[in-house]
Amino acid sequence: MSAALTAAEIIAVGSELLGWSRLDTNSLFITEQLAALGIDVKGKSVVGDDRERLRAVFTESLRRSDLVILTGGLGPTDDDLTREVVADALALPMSEEPAITATIARRFSRRGLEMPDVNRRQAMVPRGATPLPNPHGSAPGLFIEAEGKVVVLLPGPPRELQPMLTALCERGLLSARAGAERVFKVSVFTTQRSESHVEELVQPIYSRWRDQHPPVETTILATPGQVELHLSLRAADEAAAMKRLESARQQLVAVLGDSAFTTDGRPLHRLVGDMLRQRRLTLAAAESCTGGLLLERLTGVPGSSAYVAGGIVAYTNTLKTTLLGVEPALLEQHGAVSEPVAAAMADGMRERSGADVSIAITGIAGPGGGSPEKPVGTVVVAVLAPGRPMSVRTHSFPGGREHVRFQATQAALDTLRRLL
Ligand code: ATP
Repeated sequence: MSAALTAAEIIAVGSELLGWSRLDTNSLFITEQLAALGIDVKGKSVVGDDRERLRAVFTESLRRSDLVILTGGLGPTDDDLTREVVADALALPMSEEPAITATIARRFSRRGLEMPDVNRRQAMVPRGATPLPNPHGSAPGLFIEAEGKVVVLLPGPPRELQPMLTALCERGLLSARAGAERVFKVSVFTTQRSESHVEELVQPIYSRWRDQHPPVETTILATPGQVELHLSLRAADEAAAMKRLESARQQLVAVLGDSAFTTDGRPLHRLVGDMLRQRRLTLAAAESCTGGLLLERLTGVPGSSAYVAGGIVAYTNTLKTTLLGVEPALLEQHGAVSEPVAAAMADGMRERSGADVSIAITGIAGPGGGSPEKPVGTVVVAVLAPGRPMSVRTHSFPGGREHVRFQATQAALDTLRRLL
């Protein structure tokens, strides 16, 4: 039996990946998938459509690592070089596989087209390689074992690559070549706490885990409006690993209290959507500085029509009055970014929509428009939920316009989560 794979390298092929036009996201997905198998990605390269350069990078990667995964460049055109360069570097002759040609031809004929001759290139298979079926595109992947090492070629489009790699990792040629150990993971997401505050709370627990064998590895990841704690453990025994991770997760939740909003990776808008659905409640939102971002997040989830009634983007004072019924005197006296106005917006929204829950957001997203009393980042969020007094709170968010807007939606969702 061949030795278990431990060290991997990724090569993303394509000149379009060198500039702004396209980012290499495939390697991120591949790294995650391999990590779950206990295979560490030690490095990655992005190489343009250049035969000599690709060959040099591939040869070097194969010397250092026992698994090399290449993505992209499996198409039918002249600049799709990956298959030929790899076969050539490994000195494997290629021949056309008639079954693959027939599959590609069928894809074309289903669309009423004849297969162009250039597509035969995609049916070329290096000697000894295993073709990997591609239900979402024409180029099959290739799995090659050579010199005790493994080389995998995957198509560039993520929707083609992802199912192919998942199949290899879950029950295929890669899982069969991984070692006995796997990496198991759990996570806890918190909101409305700063990264340093979370760090301070969890550090004493983290240091205890690090001394255990095998250690629980911890990562803290801060994004605007959210701090994520990821725990992982490398072990052969899944049940024992998950038991330890579960106990670790509970210890974190205990110190973080109700700022820990999810332990299953669900983002806040999804979690709140699920809570609304379970409680059979509908929601309407009146948004000013977020311009519809809250509803965009909520309605981005399939099935959200079960709980989203709709909303109003009332950016100007005039529309706050005509569409939401906010008294002009209130706007005059307190200003549009104020607690009385946010509360009136939420009241007006609930009354006009008939929804069970209403949310109002009004603030100064910046970069202009701030004042000494109300600097950029000042956002007022009002939430009206059944059987609860109106919650109105003024926040002060750091960061640029985009961050302020996102944090405003996060604060609104978190307030509602706590009220439900
Ligand atoms: P096809 O047969 O569809 O041409 P291919 O294997 O030749 O597949 P490429 O032509 O290299 O793939 O890339 C096709 C598209 O896939 C690119 O335009 C890009 O959108 C996407 N893509 C390629 N590589 C990556 C990558 N590393 N990360 C994310 N997307 C990628």
